[in-house]
Amino acid sequence: MQIDLRSDTVTRPSKGMLDAMRTAKLGDDVYAEDPTVNALEARVAALFGKPKALFFPSGTMANQTAIKLHTQPGEQLICDKYAHVYNYEGGGVSFNSGVSCQLVDGHRGMMTAAQVEAAINPPDFYHSPLTSLVTLENTTNKGGGACWDFNEISKIRTVCDAHDLGLHLDGARLWNALVAKSESALQYGQVFDTISVCFSKGLGAPVGSMLVGDEALMNKALRIRKMLGGGMRQIGSLAAAANYALDHQYDRLKDDHQKAKDIAEVLQQLEAVLSVEPVETNIVIFKLNPNIPEALFLDNLKAHDILVSDMGSGKLRMVTHLDYTDAMHANLLEILRKP
Ligand SMILES: *Cc1c(COP(=O)(O)O)cnc(C)c1O
Repeated sequence: MQIDLRSDTVTRPSKGMLDAMRTAKLGDDVYAEDPTVNALEARVAALFGKPKALFFPSGTMANQTAIKLHTQPGEQLICDKYAHVYNYEGGGVSFNSGVSCQLVDGHRGMMTAAQVEAAINPPDFYHSPLTSLVTLENTTNKGGGACWDFNEISKIRTVCDAHDLGLHLDGARLWNALVAKSESALQYGQVFDTISVCFSKGLGAPVGSMLVGDEALMNKALRIRKMLGGGMRQIGSLAAAANYALDHQYDRLKDDHQKAKDIAEVLQQLEAVLSVEPVETNIVIFKLNPNIPEALFLDNLKAHDILVSDMGSGKLRMVTHLDYTDAMHANLLEILRKP
C-alpha cells in the first residue's frame, strides 16, 4: 500500500465524482455555452460575493491572468519571498506580464501591513519600477499551510487603497483556511480585487481553478485567458468534478487537518527530527537533525513505500489529502514510531 504524501494534488476522482463527470451537461465553453461551467462559475462568484468568476485549467494560469490584469510591463508587484507566484510558476510573472517581484521577508509566507507599505516604491521616483500590485497567499504553501490573520489582511487592503494598488489572493488552498479558521468566502471577496482558488488540491478534483473579480476585470480576464491558451470547449465534466468536490469533499478537509496534526505530534518525538513547524491545515513541514542524512531518511521511508517532498534548505514536507486513508494514517504513524 503506497502512502503518497508528496502533495494533495495526487488524489484520483472518487466514484461519485466520476458519475457526476460522466452525466454532466456539456456545451462549448469558448462560446460560454457549457451549462455546467456556467453554473459552477455562478456558484463560486456568489460564494465570494463577486459579480463574476472564470474557470481556468490551472491555478498558475488563474494567478498569471490576475497579475496581468493588475499590472503593466516594467511595473512591480509585492509578495512574500515564499510566494508561489514567485517560486513555482516558472518565472511567469516576468514572461507573461514583464513584471518584477519585490520580495518581502515575511513569517511563514505572510507579511505585515507595515512590511507591505515599506516595500512600495514612491510613485514619483521614476528610477524605480512602479509598484502596482500586492499578492498574498492563503494558506501559504512553502510556509507550511499557515493561515493569515484576517485583521492583517484588512490592514493590507487599507495600505493598497492609500497607494492605489491592486490586491490579489492566491487562494489555491483558501478552502483549507476557511475550514480551519471558520471564516467565510464572502469576507475574502470583500477585501480582495481578485481571488484564485483551486479544485485540484484538497478538494480532490482532477483539474480546475477559478478566478473571481468584478465585471470589468473579469471581462479583461476572459481575453487574457484566451491569449494564454486557456479557452477550453466541452469542459462541463471538469466543472462537474469541481462542483461535486464542493458538495461532498469540502467539510472533510478538517479530517486532513487532524491527520496532519497527528503526524506532526509523532514527528516531534523522533530523535531524527530537529523541528516541526506548527500545523494549522494539511501541510507538515519539518527539519531533520543535522547528523541525519536526508537521503537516508527518505530512502527509509521509500522502502516502506512512503513518499514525501523535499522542499530544499533541509525542509521536508508531508501533505494529507482525500486519498490518504485512516488505514494509511495508522500505518504511517506506526512506521514513523519504529526505531
Ligand atoms: C498549487 C498551487 C497553485 C496553482 O498550481 P497549479 O498546479 O497550476 O494548479 C497556486 N498557488 C499555490 C499556493 C499552490 O499551492
